[in-house]
Amino acid sequence: MRVAGIVVAAGLGERLGLDRPKALVPLAGRPILSHALEALAASRVLGLLVVAYPPGHEGDCRRAAEGCTGALPVRFVEGGMSRQDSVAHGLALVDESWDVVFVHDAARPLVPPACVVALAGAFPDARAATLAIPASDTTVEALHGAIARPLDRDRLWLLQTPQAFERSLLVSAHARAGADALSATDDTSLVLALGAEVRIVPGSPENRKITTEDDLTFAEAVLARRARGGADRLDAAAGPASAGSLGP
Ligand code: C5P
Repeated sequence: MRVAGIVVAAGLGERLGLDRPKALVPLAGRPILSHALEALAASRVLGLLVVAYPPGHEGDCRRAAEGCTGALPVRFVEGGMSRQDSVAHGLALVDESWDVVFVHDAARPLVPPACVVALAGAFPDARAATLAIPASDTTVEALHGAIARPLDRDRLWLLQTPQAFERSLLVSAHARAGADALSATDDTSLVLALGAEVRIVPGSPENRKITTEDDLTFAEAVLARRARGGADRLDAAAGPASAGSLGP
């Protein structure tokens, strides 16, 4: 099974309020993107990485990738206006010789390599799979600031990346989204719109998406604990979520 990865790094990250795109913001002294690439490469699951970079920042992203992926080849493509466009640009560089495509947010720099390995393990049995963690807070649906209805927490999952798909399925999902003017914040949503099943593979609370200053502080703390050799304890505390499946 030949597995390629697309890392979408073209977001501006305006909510961080910094002077550069989010993927280039330093985390423990190195760009967020460097950590994300290193984590994916460490899983030893992928044979190719494609980075969708923010317009005007190809050189910065190439520098951020240096020394992070060992012998794993990395290609670069300019990202698009939306995350979905950035994935589509990356997918154009993954030819038919690749069976499975992983799509990962550069903004999730701390994905444990073991989760990436587990995601790959869903194939070829599954055609699509995503990392996810169970909701731990009570969750509701709200309208105009008032709660419309409570949701059954036991059935709720928070999706993470990487999300992984048979290449042909992901290509079809993006083609359909283009034809139907469908836009979504992740690729699982596009694949579900095709009626395909997407399997859940347990993710990790460490795999939080960096959106705000607080997330950066959290990520710095995780890295500091890992440096002290606490990664295993943290993973154990996170606990494996039981696997299930999404879809019709
Ligand atoms: O904005 P948000 O954090 O939800 O973005 C998720 C991921 O998608 C980030 O890694 C970001 O860099 C990427 N993205 C992209 N192209 C865009 C918008 C977001 O590659 N136009």
